[in-house]
Amino acid sequence: MLTCKDLLSELNTFLDDTADPNLRQELQRHVNECPNCWVIVDTTQKTLKVYKGMQAQEIPPGIESRVMKALERKIAADKASSGA
Ligand SMILES: [Zn+2]
Repeated sequence: MLTCKDLLSELNTFLDDTADPNLRQELQRHVNECPNCWVIVDTTQKTLKVYKGMQAQEIPPGIESRVMKALERKIAADKASSGA
């Protein structure tokens, strides 16, 4: 039976999908039975997903000001066409 300490020391391997299948099964079983570790794994997984998502959508330099200018033009055009 694994302990919380075991899980924490294997957390990276567990989340990386590089753990030995047998070890992974043991870790998963511990997570299912241990609310503390479940929270740790769940939170870490979500954090990793957000982090990876941010990397995938990395904003190219200069695009922010271009988007802002396009928005300003659109807002100005909307105002003009609304007749207000
Ligand atoms: Zn635990």
